Amino acid sequence: MMDKIPVKNTDPTEPSSVGQAHPESFNLYQKHEKIYTRKIEGFYQRLRLFTGWPLLIGYFALPWISWDGRQSVLFDLPNRQFYIFDITFWPQDFMLLAWLLIIAAFGLFFVTTWLGRIWCGYTCPQTVWTSIFMWAEQITEGDRNARVKLDRLPWSINKVVRKTLKHGIWLGVSLLTAFSFVGYFTPIKELVTNMFVFALGPWEIFWLLFFTIATYGNAGWLREQVCMYMCPYARFQAAMFDQDTLIVSYDPKRGENRGSRKKGVDYREKGLGDCIDCQLCVQVCPTGIDIRDGLQYECINCALCIDACNSMMDKMEYPRGLIRYTTEHKLEHESGSILRPKLIGYGLALMLMTLMFAYTISTRTPLELDIIRDRNQLYRETAEGLVENTYTLKVLNMSQQSMRYRISVQGMEELKIKGKTEIEVSAGEILAIPLRVEIDPALLENINVPIEFSVTTLDQSIKVSEQTRFLGPQIR
Ligand code: SF4
Ligand code: SF4
Repeated sequence: MMDKIPVKNTDPTEPSSVGQAHPESFNLYQKHEKIYTRKIEGFYQRLRLFTGWPLLIGYFALPWISWDGRQSVLFDLPNRQFYIFDITFWPQDFMLLAWLLIIAAFGLFFVTTWLGRIWCGYTCPQTVWTSIFMWAEQITEGDRNARVKLDRLPWSINKVVRKTLKHGIWLGVSLLTAFSFVGYFTPIKELVTNMFVFALGPWEIFWLLFFTIATYGNAGWLREQVCMYMCPYARFQAAMFDQDTLIVSYDPKRGENRGSRKKGVDYREKGLGDCIDCQLCVQVCPTGIDIRDGLQYECINCALCIDACNSMMDKMEYPRGLIRYTTEHKLEHESGSILRPKLIGYGLALMLMTLMFAYTISTRTPLELDIIRDRNQLYRETAEGLVENTYTLKVLNMSQQSMRYRISVQGMEELKIKGKTEIEVSAGEILAIPLRVEIDPALLENINVPIEFSVTTLDQSIKVSEQTRFLGPQIR
C-alpha cells in the first residue's frame, strides 16, 4: 500500500492518472503563457473572503493600534526590542523566537497532513494579494474574454486608459502594503509625518521601494509562478501528504469518459461520465492546471475549480461534487482515518511545545540583573577598619513601565551596602549602579565568600538574584 499521494507525472511518454498522455512536458525554460482566469462565485470563494479579509484588515490596521501609549506591534531593530502588545521581547529572548518558529513549523506540518495545502489556498499572502490584484484587473479590464480580447487589440486610448488604471491600482496597493510593512519596524505615525515633509531616511526609502516592487511583481506579474518555482513549501508538502490528507480532487470514476452532450439526454448510454468537458475548472484555476490530470504540486487548494464544477453540475442537474475536497482513500471507496500516527505525532508535539511556550511566557521575569566586580582592586580597607568590595550592578527593566526596585545583599551577617538601595528604572532602560559592600573583618568567614545580590520590586512581586564573590584579606 502506498502511503504517499502520487503527484502529476510530468513525463509526456507516461500515461496520466486518468489514462491520457499529458499534452505538454514540464520545462523550466519554457515560454510563460499568461493565464487569464475566469471569475467564479461559490461557497469556497465566500469562505476565502472570510479568511482573507480578517488577515488583510489585521495586517493594515495593527501598526495603527496604540497600546499603552505606543504602537501595539513594533519591531524596534535599532533598540533591539520587539513590542507585541503587553510583551517586550529582548535579544535575550532569542530562544523564545526560535521556539515560536519551531511551533509554527509543526503547526504547518500538522495542518498540511490533515487538511493539505489549506494555508496556500486561503491564507498565504501571495494568494490573498493576488486575489486583490485580480479583482483590480477585472474591474478595469473586464472579464476573462474581455481581457483576452484587450491584450490582442493594438494600442488605443481605451487600452491605455484601462491598463493605466489597472497598474495604478496595483501600484497603490503595493505602496500601501510596503508602507504598512515598514510601519512594523519604524513607528508608522512617524513614517507618515516624515513622508509628508520629505524626511524619510535612506533605509526607509529603500525598504519602501523594495516592498512596493516585490508586491507589484509577485502579485501582479509573477502570480502562480511564485507558487510553482519560488515557494519551497510546494516542493516539500508532498512529504507530509498521505492517503487520508484532504485534497481537491476530480472523481475520475464518476467523471470519465468526459465529453459534451445535450442536457437531459441519457449520456450513460453513450458511455459518458458526468464531466461535460466544459473546461471551466481549468479556466478558473489561478495556476492554470487541469485538476482532472490528478494531484499536482501546482495545485494550491484554492477550491475555485470546485465552485466552477459545482455551478456546471447545477446547470446540468447532476449531483454536485465531481470535483470536491476528499482524500485518496475516500476516492477509492476505502474508509479513511483522520487519526493516524503521523498526525497524532505532529499534534502532540505541537500541543506540548505550545504549552511549554505559554508557560515560559507567563512565568518570564521582565527584569534582568548583571553584576560586575571591580577588577582593579580586590578589596579595600576603610578608615573605619572595615573591608570593602566594589561592584557595578546593571539592572535592565524589560517591562513596559517605569519601575522602582530595592537592592539587597545576602551571604554573610552584618554585610552592608553603601550606596543607593532604592532605584527607579525606566521601561527598557539598563541602569548601571555602582555599589560598595562592607563588613567587619572579624566577621569575615573566608578570604573568598559567595554572596548574592537581589533586586526586588517594592511590592515584592518580581525578584531576581545573582551570585558574586566578596574578597577579603588573609584571616589571621
Ligand atoms: S486545481 Fe483547483 S484547487 Fe487547485 S489551484 Fe487550480 S483551481 Fe485551485
Ligand atoms: S468543470 Fe467539471 S464538468 Fe467542466 S470540465 Fe471541469 S470537471 Fe468537467
